This record gives sequence, structure tokens and C-alpha cells, in this order.
Amino acid sequence: MVEKKSDWKKKLTPEQYHILREKGTEMPFTGKLLTNTKTGMYHCAGCNAPLFSSDTKFDSHFGWPSFFAAHGDHIVYKEDTSSFMHRIEVQCKKCGGHLGHVFDDGPKPSGKRFCINSLALEFKETKKKKSI
Ligand code: FE
Repeated sequence: MVEKKSDWKKKLTPEQYHILREKGTEMPFTGKLLTNTKTGMYHCAGCNAPLFSSDTKFDSHFGWPSFFAAHGDHIVYKEDTSSFMHRIEVQCKKCGGHLGHVFDDGPKPSGKRFCINSLALEFKETKKKKSI
């Protein structure tokens, strides 16, 4: 498992490193996955853990890829009081990478809005089954 700072620097782009390992935030409306509407799974860009399904993606108009639920149990929640705000940070359980935050203003029934940096994610499209 990749853990050392130097290893992460080799594995990730500088932009990904800043988000995942330094809790950075990409500029809103810049992420390439923001408008992605394909069917598939969003994985951690650091360790490949499956984090969010396209079934739970929605357009929050905030400027980052948004999901109303996490896929499985691959996320940890941390209290974040930086930037003079009280927020809940979302991290990848497997590698500890910073993904974004979760807010309580999402759509029903979950009411959750996972606000995730596009750079922290890697999308893998589900291959359509061939019809016989
Ligand atoms: Fe990860």
C-alpha cells in the first residue's frame, strides 16, 4: 500500500496530491467529472476504492460533482472546523485521502449532499451488456 509522501507524489498529479493529501479544493465548475452523466462507478483517485455510483449523482449547481449517497462503506467522516466553518469532511477509508465534504441540504430521501472534488475521483464506465 502506498503511504509515504514521496510515493503519493509519484502516483498522483500535483493537482490530485493537493486535493487528496493536503485537503485542497478545486475551483468550482472546473472538474471534468462535474457534467459526466455516464453510467458507472466513481473510484478514489488515490487507491481505487469504489466510492460513489452514478445512480446517486445529481446536479447540485454548486460546481462540484455531487452525490446523495455513498457506495458501500468506503468513506470516513471527520469534523472539520477550518476556514471558520463547521463542516463534515469526507475521506476515503482505505487511503485516508481527502475527497470533499458532506452537507445536509441534499435531495430527499437521504437529504445528503456529498460535495466531492472531481480530481479526487476516477470514473469507470459500466460496460453495457451485449444483446444477443
Ligand atoms: Fe482512497
